Amino acid sequence: MKIEIVKTTSPKEKPNADTLGFGQVFSDHMFRMEYTPEEGWHNARIVPFENISLHPASTVLHYGAEIFEGLKAYRRADGKVQMFRPIENVRRLNNSAERLCLPQIPEDMAMQALTEFVRLEQDWTPHKKGTSLYLRPFLFGDDRTLGVHTIKRAQFIIIASPVGSYYKEGINPVRIMIESTDVRAVRGGTGYAKCGGNYAASTRAGKKAEEQGYSQVLWLDGVERKYIEEVGAMNVMFKIAGKVVTPKLTGSILPGITRKSCIELLQSEGYTVEERLLSVDELGQALADGTLEEAWGCGTAAVVSPIGELNYLGKKYIINDNKIGPVTQHLYDTLTGIQWGEVEDTFGWTYQI
Ligand SMILES: *Cc1c(COP(=O)(O)O)cnc(C)c1O
Repeated sequence: MKIEIVKTTSPKEKPNADTLGFGQVFSDHMFRMEYTPEEGWHNARIVPFENISLHPASTVLHYGAEIFEGLKAYRRADGKVQMFRPIENVRRLNNSAERLCLPQIPEDMAMQALTEFVRLEQDWTPHKKGTSLYLRPFLFGDDRTLGVHTIKRAQFIIIASPVGSYYKEGINPVRIMIESTDVRAVRGGTGYAKCGGNYAASTRAGKKAEEQGYSQVLWLDGVERKYIEEVGAMNVMFKIAGKVVTPKLTGSILPGITRKSCIELLQSEGYTVEERLLSVDELGQALADGTLEEAWGCGTAAVVSPIGELNYLGKKYIINDNKIGPVTQHLYDTLTGIQWGEVEDTFGWTYQI
């Protein structure tokens, strides 16, 4: 694939790495291409970052045909830039596309787009410890008619945002509210697809939890409201009586790449990891008899996020004295070590630009 490059004539000043938040500042360029049934994916180009113009009937604006990915480019100590398991994001993007009947992107084409884009924007990868360049590829239906039918036209865009360290004041355990009314996804729905609509549906519960001083929601399954699914935009893991337990991928859970990496890392070190149904009752029992040793969320943004408190139906449960546990800390140290090139990558997970 030939990618046309149009460089900006007015490069922006790079932000101060000390004050970076999440997704507020964007780099100088963006990758774009379009899809039509006649031409396939075409007009691949990297152009100055700019607003996009859409037809008012564009499918995405009415019927929510949008999927996205989130991954990061990291600055290694030797100055080089690398991504973490980008091929996994490409495959997940295509799985999400399949679910929403959006056109898929051949893997080599998507990898080339990511690689050439990051290579051009690599100076936007900050150097300060814990910071990174967040990459947001997204794909949406762009037919220009209000008729509801299979999508024919689509757009694929990648933007990049330098982001600060998730843990500026050290890793503090978070307070999580178990949501017993709203559900995020159901089997047969779009839970396993990374689509914008899942986020729209989960906003209300998140808002309610926040108002009560909780940082995120822990979702239960949509049918019985009994089995643990995930927490906010992270997968969730528990250490119960020496074993690591995480909800199995039933179709309503997002298959996180951090989740997969945690499982593969722990198994390589001899831990028992069980991917299975875990009911909120079993969790309550483990809390009551003291066998719930650790709990953490895992996702690209935070890598791991220890859970210090769970609230279920108004009752509060404290986990591990509200402190980060040894397995959570070990996962954090090892995964971030590999991502920033400080720990040897024996898994072949990193991809240098
Ligand atoms: C993106 C996401 C995750 C985490 O996936 P990673 O690949 O580890 O970043 C978990 N849950 C939801 C709902 C997500 O959207």
